[in-house]
Amino acid sequence: MSLFQFDPLRPYRGASPNTMLRILYADSLNLPSDLGESMPANTFNLQFSGLETDFVLVTCQFSVSSLQSLVPNYHLPFTIYSLLPFVTIRIGVPKYHRAGVAVFGILSLILIGSPVIISPMFDFQITSKNNRARAGIFSTPHGDLVTPVFAPVGTQATVKTLTPEHLKDINASLVLSNTYHLYLRPGDELVRDMGGLHKFMQWHRPMLTDSGGFQVFSLAQTRKIDDDGVTFKSHIDGSTHRFTPEKSVAIQENLGADIIMAFDECSDPNDHAYSKLAMHRTHRWAERSLKAQTRRDQALFGIVQGGVQVDLRAESANFIASLDTPGIAIGGLSVGETKQEMHDTLDVVVPLLPENKPRYLMGVGTPEDLINGVARGIDIFDCVLPTRLARHHSAFAPEGRLNLMNASFARDERPIDETCDCYSCKTFTRAYIRHLIVAKELLAGTLISIHNLRALIRLMEQIRVYIADGTFESRVPELLSQWDNNAKRKHATVGAQRDD
Ligand SMILES: [Zn+2]
Repeated sequence: MSLFQFDPLRPYRGASPNTMLRILYADSLNLPSDLGESMPANTFNLQFSGLETDFVLVTCQFSVSSLQSLVPNYHLPFTIYSLLPFVTIRIGVPKYHRAGVAVFGILSLILIGSPVIISPMFDFQITSKNNRARAGIFSTPHGDLVTPVFAPVGTQATVKTLTPEHLKDINASLVLSNTYHLYLRPGDELVRDMGGLHKFMQWHRPMLTDSGGFQVFSLAQTRKIDDDGVTFKSHIDGSTHRFTPEKSVAIQENLGADIIMAFDECSDPNDHAYSKLAMHRTHRWAERSLKAQTRRDQALFGIVQGGVQVDLRAESANFIASLDTPGIAIGGLSVGETKQEMHDTLDVVVPLLPENKPRYLMGVGTPEDLINGVARGIDIFDCVLPTRLARHHSAFAPEGRLNLMNASFARDERPIDETCDCYSCKTFTRAYIRHLIVAKELLAGTLISIHNLRALIRLMEQIRVYIADGTFESRVPELLSQWDNNAKRKHATVGAQRDD
């Protein structure tokens, strides 16, 4: 069992009532070591929602109505025994949290013979392992992420052509959105005033925002980097803007995603001298990003950089791991390096990262990248590939990528993939989708996006089953060969952007 540092003095300024609840909740995870040591470890193991958890919950100063959001979000068993402490312990002053923990623990022991235990926010539980691959559960304020997970990209607060209902139907759990784009349009303050990103786009499952750094370096028309930040011109209207680590965190706090990123600089992977400079800058920016964070209900991930340089990657992995962020991202890959270089980099970085934190490989990838990434210990992926391919009429299929505009599909009565369980495949023929494409009907993009995203999400579901039953490692060659004919570029990485 790990113990969090008890931090009674953290300021609670500027929080909405709902945020206050979560902040107090987050603090309540800071189990005082004296209480922890006075109870045998096995009393901390209860099962809720099928999860083994390690932490006593104590929270203070919230209304009873807040329980409505607390109960489903945090796996709290809805019983008089578990709710009573929330009603009775309303101390409300941070310095009394320690006392609250004690009272709560004693009350729970008296009432149910054991402390009530729930899974804490941003807790990462590994449920099974298969060599370096792992399956787990990452708890966020908007629900659990079952990992390994593939996140569709919703650049401008929408996964192109899809509604949130479509995304739920294909069992998407995490959606990524882009700080750079939302800052420029409609503006992060507008999103905040409309209730935050989840409410604005009506996606109520976990969300992730990037730091905006990647787009500033790759999209903005002109940019000037210094050690303090980046000045750039908008790709939309040429207006001048400046991002610093503090600014990026402030924007991401306005947007309100569950997982946010430290500001980083992605360099040309093969330029050792510049990669070193950008890596050191990324490290200083990570420290400043953490210092700038005011919301406790967002998990801020540090980002490992260092190009494809083994020495730099090792240094960066050790440094970012030392910052003790709730998760760690690996950036600067899938930017045109070879597949071998990507794998070699992961082989250096991942073993240096803490076991008990989720690892996010940014902007990756193709089906074979997902398989190879999971095999190397990655938990979270995102990529624009499925939706971008869909808009170019290209669909994942067992016989390889199909260009559905081809005349050969004009009378094809089969679905895109006979083995697929998505709405598009259960309902429509290739002939109909080809007709939509030829007639330039927008529904074509929707139907192919549904299928392509579902294909990758199904792949991850299948991988999770294989990790759980211990066969993943031995099935990697089989999985790779199944997807081999969907790989257009076998040796170079995609060079994908993290926006769509
Ligand atoms: Zn399908």
